Amino acid sequence: MTATGHAIIGTIIAAKVGNPYLAVPLALASHVAADIIPHWDTATNRKSKGKDRVLTETIFDIALGFLLSYAILTFFFPNTNFLYALLMIFVSQSFDWLMAPYYFFHINMPPFTWAYQLQKKFDSELDAPWGIVTQVAAVLVVLFLAVLL
Ligand SMILES: [Zn+2]
Repeated sequence: MTATGHAIIGTIIAAKVGNPYLAVPLALASHVAADIIPHWDTATNRKSKGKDRVLTETIFDIALGFLLSYAILTFFFPNTNFLYALLMIFVSQSFDWLMAPYYFFHINMPPFTWAYQLQKKFDSELDAPWGIVTQVAAVLVVLFLAVLL
């Protein structure tokens, strides 16, 4: 899933689960669950795109994630602690942050290689546009449930 998708889910977990001992494992599990859903992300079609473009799009994706998370916090969950939400965003994205040194900069050592190998087991790719539709739908369902319940 995109960094944006993981960030929004992390934000919602922070808004709904005040206990970090519960929220951290939930955020980690949410990364796996979100990546199992067939999705497009900035690394889709990496062979034809090239790593430089993947990196540029990923930086944009991360920035968009923080922007949308901030908007969601402001509009739907204004009582949530901002730093706590920021922490849950990073935890929700943590597998991707962990594999980035290996993936982008070829730092070929654990835990970066472990994160990469682990993610390959559950990451499910689906090209745009459907790989974006599945992801927007998944995030909207989580957001609706969080706002309603
Ligand atoms: Zn992932």
